[in-house]
Amino acid sequence: MWNSISLVQLGYGALFSLTISGLAFWVGMLSLSGAFAAFGMGTLIFGIGGWSWTAVLITFFGTSSLLSRLFLKQKQKLETQIEKGYHRDWVQVLANGGIALVCVLLQGWFPNSSIPFLAASASLAAANADTWATELGVLSSQPPRLITTGKTVPRGVSGGVSAFGLLAALGGSTLIAAVGAFFIEERLSFFLIVCLSGIMGSLVDSILGASLQVVYYCPNCEKETEKHPFHSCGEKTLYQRGRIWLNNDGVNLACTLFAAIFALMMARLF
Ligand SMILES: [Zn+2]
Repeated sequence: MWNSISLVQLGYGALFSLTISGLAFWVGMLSLSGAFAAFGMGTLIFGIGGWSWTAVLITFFGTSSLLSRLFLKQKQKLETQIEKGYHRDWVQVLANGGIALVCVLLQGWFPNSSIPFLAASASLAAANADTWATELGVLSSQPPRLITTGKTVPRGVSGGVSAFGLLAALGGSTLIAAVGAFFIEERLSFFLIVCLSGIMGSLVDSILGASLQVVYYCPNCEKETEKHPFHSCGEKTLYQRGRIWLNNDGVNLACTLFAAIFALMMARLF
């Protein structure tokens, strides 16, 4: 139960995540609200979960932040619709890490279970697969196709997939699975479950992105966008299609939740 959690470790967790989120805010990877969310999440992940959880979280946060900064010139040259901005706010932090946060609280409740760590790793594998596919997929020489209809779409459109993007997703999921498995005795089954769950989660992300996710339109730039109420140019964006309540953050949350549930089902089967 909770008495196994030491205040000292929570204190170290607070110091550690204050350093990381402070740095991320300073270099512009997180907005102020994003830095606060990351600080709270990091404190609990380190304070309750310890090194294994922290290693997985840092791998996700580090590689996704790095990839969003790399190849910026190539990304700007392409006319992509990725306009999420590079300062992640608290909603984006929780959309990607919220499931892992719930899992670490469950770990506090059931300190001897290996299930919360499996589910959290699967959710972060899905978030990492999705981020790698988004950040690296725009560099693909082939234009992506919509996962639902197979129609060719511009690079960066939600739900668009390419062979290169799928490979990137596999890489992102594999890395998280490998880092997590390092701390686990039953390495191989953990690795396979997390890796597969991550891929499945990112496929759910693409399917929702292509079908239900809300899309807006900027009359000034004459292009579709995920931004609302204002486009990056300052113009008000108009509703185009999709469910108004399902934006990109909602899709990310669904993708990480699906991966965690998928991992739990696999763990029951094997
Ligand atoms: Zn515009």
